[in-house]
This record gives sequence, C-alpha cells and structure tokens, in this order.
Amino acid sequence: MSQKRKSVSEYQLQPTRLQESLADGTTRCNLCLWKCRIKHGQRGFCQAHVNRQGTLYNLSYGIISAIDIGPIEDKPVRNYRPGTTIMSIGSYGCNFRCGGCHNLDISWGVEALDDLAKGESTAAYASPDELVEIALRYKVDGIAFTYSEPAVWLEYVLDVSELARARGLYTVYVSNSFVTNEALELMAPHIDVLCSDIKSLDDPFYKDICKLATVEQVLGSIVKAQQLGIHVETRTNIIPTRNDEPVMLKAIAQWIHDHLGADSPWHITRFFPSYKLAHLPPTSSDLLWQTHKLAEEVGLQNVYVYDDKGCDCAESNVSVSSYLQGNAESIHQVKKCAAPCCGEEGILLKKYETDQ
Ligand code: SF4
Ligand code: SF4
Repeated sequence: MSQKRKSVSEYQLQPTRLQESLADGTTRCNLCLWKCRIKHGQRGFCQAHVNRQGTLYNLSYGIISAIDIGPIEDKPVRNYRPGTTIMSIGSYGCNFRCGGCHNLDISWGVEALDDLAKGESTAAYASPDELVEIALRYKVDGIAFTYSEPAVWLEYVLDVSELARARGLYTVYVSNSFVTNEALELMAPHIDVLCSDIKSLDDPFYKDICKLATVEQVLGSIVKAQQLGIHVETRTNIIPTRNDEPVMLKAIAQWIHDHLGADSPWHITRFFPSYKLAHLPPTSSDLLWQTHKLAEEVGLQNVYVYDDKGCDCAESNVSVSSYLQGNAESIHQVKKCAAPCCGEEGILLKKYETDQ
C-alpha cells in the first residue's frame, strides 16, 4: 500500500509511504530491503519508523540533522551538471551499521530518534516548502539527500523532490542501495541522480554491516535505478584489509562496465580511519591509482580518484540552524507531534508508555 502525502507546516508523524498489513497483526515496512515487520509500539531497524495501532509512521519527517552547500562533484557526482552547486541535507536513521561510518551521530542517530519517540527532541525541523525556499535563497542548483540512507525518510525525500523539481532544482540521492524496487519506482519520477556505493562484491563484507544484505540485492537495486531512467554513478571506498583485493576491485569495475555501461562513472575514494575501524591505516595513494588503472584495463571510461576525500562527511558542516529562518531558540523548540494518534503528550512509544 502506498500512502498519500499531505502538506505539513509543523513537525508531526507522517504515514510511512510503503507499508503492508500482515495476517499476523504486524505491519511491514517496504521502503528498504530489511522489510521490517513491526508491532504496535515498536520501531524498525533504522529506528525511524514506528507502528501506532497497526499503521506505520515516519518519525524523522522534516527533521534535519545536517545541511551543507558545495559543488556537486563532492557527492561525488561528475557526469551530471558539472560545475553546479548543491545543497546537501540529511536526517537521523540508517539501515546499515558500517564500522567505518564517519557520520555516526547524524546517520544512526539512535539517541536523536529516541528523543523524537519520547516527544523530547529539540532537533531542527523544516517543512518541504521551507527547505526548498532555503535552497532557492542560497541560489543552489540542486538538492542532495545524503549523510545516511535516504530511503529511511523517503516520505520527506519525495515531498521535497517534487517541490524542488517544480522550482527548477535537480535532485541527487546518495545511497547504499539496500532499497526495494517499490521505493525506487516511487523515487524515479522525482530523482535525477543516484550516487550509490558498491562497497564490495563479497557477501560477508555486507553481512558484517547489515546481516540481511547481499551483494546481489545491492547490485540489483542499482541496475533497477538505471532502468527506471535515473542517472547512476557509483562509488567504492577502499578500506585496507577489508575490500582492497585488486581482483575484487577489478571485478567491481567489470561489473559496472557490463551492467551500467563503459561510460558509467565510478568514483574511487580514500578510506580514513574512523569508529570501529580507527585502527586501520588510510588507503594509500598507490592503491587508489592502481585501481584506476585496473578499471581502465576493463574499459571503464569515467573513473575518478579522490586522494583527499573519503565520504560525503558532515563532520565540518556549519550548524543547521544557521540555514533556517528564525532564532536558534525557536528552531530548537521541543518537538511534540500534533498527530491525533500521539495524544497530548506528543509521541509516545510502547517502551515509554504506561498504559500498554
Ligand atoms: S526503512 Fe528499512 S530499516 Fe527502516 S523500518 Fe523500513 S524496512 Fe525497516
Ligand atoms: S557509512 Fe553510510 S550506509 Fe554505512 S552506516 Fe554510515 S551512513 Fe549508513
């Protein structure tokens, strides 16, 4: 079942766009390939969707964890509107748990989503109209959804994209591609570019960061996006000892060549030590350029090496409130959901409720 959107000027739960009631009384979220089956009062793996009396709602709709403005090449995207400027935004919640994630606080956002669930969040909110107005005020050419997996707040991504396109802006979706075909079909009319990770061609690599994920699913989603008419570029962040085997890197290049096309852009980025992988060294320049050579050997024509940059990181972004209109106090007021299912106290989930 695909839920319709309604216009929202202040923070409140929004029905999850792809949900399905099951015979066992649970409700399934079909946004990403976790396909979480969620009971009343529970949240899905990403923590951003909650079941209230059989209906799933997105907790993070309009909640902005990071904003940044810069060149589209930083996403990284090179073969779509080069030289233009893009506003990147992100929210809390991700469907992966990468050991080297640089955006932990804003991507997993477990505490931030807990606060939203309890009606105690002071995170910034921007309605889709406000967000697009901000983008126009800063005279950017497009909007990118990034910093965590955008499928987990697809409700907002779709609403913003629709408005953005109507105002002449393009849209970029930076993804791990662990998403359903239904989600891609919803996105396709509104998203211009997918920049997707291909993290590895080994299932154990993916299992380590998401126990359900397989290489086949991720690659299948990337192909599907291209078939749906979205401009696709791919990226591999080479992590020493984890996905740095030349044979596998060459196989990734070959796969891109055979399934996306010889001219399909591939971005090879440097890993920087972080979080659980803080003990590993950064990727050597030699390896990055050797991989570039391997990719050229298989016939890939648009291969880009990033010696300086690893991820689409939000570590050095200026504060979200500096982009929003209003003073910091009003922007960071406590968010209590106005939707009827939440009652007077805002959002309350089973683990915070006393009457369950
Ligand atoms: S977006 Fe993915 S992880 Fe989150 S609730 Fe839906 S299926 Fe689960
Ligand atoms: S690296 Fe990306 S996909 Fe992995 S946990 Fe961080 S935000 Fe999610």
